[in-house]
Amino acid sequence: MTQHGIHHVTAIAGPASRNVGFYTKTLGLRLVKQTVNFDDPGTWHLYYGDEAGSPGTILTFFPWEHVAPGRLGVGETQETVFRVPEGSIGYWTHRFIEKGVAFDPIAKRFGETALSFRDPDGMRLALVAVPGAEREPAWSAGEIAPDHAIRGFHSVSLLLEEAAPTGAVLTDVLGFRQGASEGSTTRFEVPGAGVGGIVDIRAVGGFLKPRPGGGSVHHVAFRAADDAEEAAMAAKLVENHGISPTEQRDRNYFRSIYFREPGHVLFEIATDQPGFAVDEAPADLGRALKLPDFLEPNRARIESVLPALGEPA
Ligand code: ZN
Repeated sequence: MTQHGIHHVTAIAGPASRNVGFYTKTLGLRLVKQTVNFDDPGTWHLYYGDEAGSPGTILTFFPWEHVAPGRLGVGETQETVFRVPEGSIGYWTHRFIEKGVAFDPIAKRFGETALSFRDPDGMRLALVAVPGAEREPAWSAGEIAPDHAIRGFHSVSLLLEEAAPTGAVLTDVLGFRQGASEGSTTRFEVPGAGVGGIVDIRAVGGFLKPRPGGGSVHHVAFRAADDAEEAAMAAKLVENHGISPTEQRDRNYFRSIYFREPGHVLFEIATDQPGFAVDEAPADLGRALKLPDFLEPNRARIESVLPALGEPA
């Protein structure tokens, strides 16, 4: 059965070693791939996720050592939200106090308990308690016990002028259905919304324009099972929405097309195939710098310019 929803989220970070420390140690995600930005090979591209690097669990970063902080604005992803087991919000609150992580008071959203917090670059993140998540597999080789470990993405929220045009792309092309509304937020869900199955649109006409930088989400990628489904989605974008995506690009671990959705957020459609075990064994994911074939001849030079990563957990 074809699974839809979020494939990965990519954001901009400050120093790579700080990014690795926060996501692998403080949050307990697995570093599943060390590679470079294929369009800018002197820059890291770091991928975090569950044990297997499953679609719907992957948060990636382009770390820049001296990046200026971003400022949130309309036409951007506001918050990236992870799923945790129902009883674990208290554990995470204590952990954030212990680790000096900035967080907001616990809030209810659509009947769910949410704990919003920031990463060291000010990226807006949250944990939402999901009943039954404790029965799902977790990456638990680090400091976080499986009872509390993150289980992939819950959702992203998009800050937009208006909900309808973007909602039409989500429902017609990307496999979502319109759900409930709460205040100015409209929820879109993949039927049976599991990992990565929710997009919330916050309609805030007249808000400031964004200034992308550290802590900003660069793009959100959505799942296509394979090339054929991705091509069918691209055709629908052109025919039904007047949006022309890029031609397909081979990202080694998935194959992607990109487009600006009507609310100006950069969207990607990425295939589930072939996944992160295509160039290293599942047990070894994320342990060594992997390069696509076209960059392999430049490995020595690339390794000499990449900043040190530090030790992942
Ligand atoms: Zn991407």
